[in-house]
Amino acid sequence: MLEVKKISKSYSGVEVLKGVDLYARPGEIVGVLGPNGAGKTTLLEIIEGLIQADSGDIELDKIQLGIRRNNTSKSMAVVLQTTPLPPFMTAEELMQLFSASYSTCIKKSRELLSVVGLESKKEVSINTLSVGQKQRLGIALALAAEPDILFADEPSSALDPQARRIVWGLLKDYVASGEKTVILSTQHMDEAETLCTRVYLLSEGRIRSQGTPEEMVRENAPGCVISFQTSGELSDSLLKLENIEKTGFIDGLQKFEIIAKDGHEIARVMRVLTSDESVDVSSINIKRNTLEDVFIKLTGRSLRD
Ligand code: ADP
Repeated sequence: MLEVKKISKSYSGVEVLKGVDLYARPGEIVGVLGPNGAGKTTLLEIIEGLIQADSGDIELDKIQLGIRRNNTSKSMAVVLQTTPLPPFMTAEELMQLFSASYSTCIKKSRELLSVVGLESKKEVSINTLSVGQKQRLGIALALAAEPDILFADEPSSALDPQARRIVWGLLKDYVASGEKTVILSTQHMDEAETLCTRVYLLSEGRIRSQGTPEEMVRENAPGCVISFQTSGELSDSLLKLENIEKTGFIDGLQKFEIIAKDGHEIARVMRVLTSDESVDVSSINIKRNTLEDVFIKLTGRSLRD
């Protein structure tokens, strides 16, 4: 188990990490989320051993790794958003080079190319691979180190939806044995909800919230938003509903949203809506709050800021 305790780090007197705690168990994909500048990369690079913290402690399986080491642990490897790769080597040549430096056998390096679906591309120059294929090669190179902990820094940001899902599958498969851990930094809340067993939301150098994605939503943005349209003014029964807000007026129809905290409230609102003739029943929509709502609530920023 990886245990990160009270990590602090300042740059030129500005504290960018303020006593951050994090743990990750084998079999978990742990997400580190947060807006730009929150300190995600700094935190991950400290754990990876690429930069030094000012104070705190990092332990892997109860063995202190230290916060001032200047090399990465052999049990860790990193997948970057885009991996710089030598353009004129083939995937197979590069895999063999990496495998030799990690003492991974040649057979295993061939298997890895097949695991990431690049078996048929192993003999072509890397510069002819697509962005998604290069990212999968980057993952295979990281896996050649057979790390106990794989760090994935925004691994699917540059990928199309299909390639993202392939990368998600690779990360899920990596932890499936229950022995390996993935630590994922992402700006994409759907990625975190799909992949992560637990997430940490970092903002201004502090952990604002943590837990499973479901717990985070339940604790910070419970319930859902019910939206609907009416053809006229609100009827008396609708006016009695709490947390109702007008959100628009299009083509003679008024649009409203109601926030319902739990299942009982959803049922009550739905009874009123479906018995009111001014409501266009076909427009009723119920949207569960997601991690994105938690993100905006706790950081006060939208994901596009
Ligand atoms: P994130 O990955 O969440 O976007 P970073 O960890 O990259 O955040 O940055 C956190 C803060 O630390 C930012 O304000 C950034 O400008 C600052 N920072 C990061 N690296 C350095 C550095 N080498 N020197 C000075 N400031 C830095």
